Amino acid sequence: MRKKIVAGNWKMNLTPDQGASLVKDILKEKLELKYNQLVVVCPPFTGIDSISKLLEDNEGTKVQLGSQNISEKNSGAYTGEVSAEMLTSLNVRYAIVGHSERRQLFNESNELLHKKVDAVLASKMIPIFCCGEPLEVREANEQNDYVKKQLEESLFHLNADIVSSSLIIAYEPIWAIGTGKTASADQAEEMHAFIRSLLEEKWGSDAAENVSILYGGSVKPDNAPELFGKENVDGGLIGGAALSADSFLGIIQAMN
Ligand code: PEP
Repeated sequence: MRKKIVAGNWKMNLTPDQGASLVKDILKEKLELKYNQLVVVCPPFTGIDSISKLLEDNEGTKVQLGSQNISEKNSGAYTGEVSAEMLTSLNVRYAIVGHSERRQLFNESNELLHKKVDAVLASKMIPIFCCGEPLEVREANEQNDYVKKQLEESLFHLNADIVSSSLIIAYEPIWAIGTGKTASADQAEEMHAFIRSLLEEKWGSDAAENVSILYGGSVKPDNAPELFGKENVDGGLIGGAALSADSFLGIIQAMN
């Protein structure tokens, strides 16, 4: 059964102290998450250690730790990179792979992301695999083919068991990220249903039913309820609104 998930991607924001203080404010709320609900925070690498300790001290919280990126390599002479083993040693359980900013600004290709997905899974972490089209593709009404190619080239080598137990997908139309422009709930549902139909075709209905598909792109407390109310929208990947406890908590509430 798929989970409802709200994941916060802090991007290159918040010092370790600022991040710890935000997580303390979130934990103060004593979130009463249901058995099928999950909250993930993805700080910059510099914040992971202190937040890991905070979450360890609050055992029983359903707030989990994720990274925003990961190396496809295990170890060695790769200056500036961070491996899966380094992350799991700090209790990081999730890794965002293929965020559009990584694809666009750091030239991450579908082929590289295939390797990153494998590195995440080999370490028993769960990839939050991002896909989504730029504005010109949406305007040409070619978003389905575009997203299908992203999934085919980075995920279709996986087997049904892994997909069923260990994959999260985030659909993030690039034109809606950080722009204040949200896809309408119907546009999001249409794409999520399409993605789920691709998963079903490739791996069967059980696996397809178990994959949480999150929506990302200017989600706020006021638009989250309508988006999360759609049948195939299983929560959100949140950028800007994850940087304040009030708005992040407001979005978490929308899972109910
Ligand atoms: C994101 O960065 O994944 C994102 C969805 O950002 P925002 O919520 O700010 O649009």
